[in-house]
Amino acid sequence: MSDVVRVGIIICHRYHTCAGGKCFRAFENREGAFDVYENRDAKIVSYTTCDGCPGGNVEYAPEEMKKNGVEVVHLATGMVVGYPPCPRISHFKRYIEERYGLRVVVGTHPIPQKYYDMHSRLGTWKSAFWQEIIKPTLADERIRIAYN
Ligand code: SF4
Repeated sequence: MSDVVRVGIIICHRYHTCAGGKCFRAFENREGAFDVYENRDAKIVSYTTCDGCPGGNVEYAPEEMKKNGVEVVHLATGMVVGYPPCPRISHFKRYIEERYGLRVVVGTHPIPQKYYDMHSRLGTWKSAFWQEIIKPTLADERIRIAYN
């Protein structure tokens, strides 16, 4: 078994035209939810979308990811910061873990400050549940501004 951690990313389909710049940059810099690979060799080997509500591709994409050696699936930060955030995040996480035995991390790049500000005004992430969800991508203000 290789020492390189192979990573797959599933993004929210509402951002399906996204070129992935923030995710790849954060991966390169080991920022946001990718800081878990700070002292690890890791590479992104798969990138896809959920295929739109209710996220049908989440049922199948991890199977192909697993065949290609993916060990950790990241649910992209867009699922957390969208208006509204994806209501299915926990289900996706549990499903992928139970069905495919893959580790699932919620988040990719740090939350951009503009989303942080708006969701703070909306009170979106006030609950203990959401506080836990945003933890890997919260970062500090300096980093959040850098991802605006
Ligand atoms: S809100 Fe959730 S299910 Fe809907 S498109 Fe986004 S990630 Fe997929």
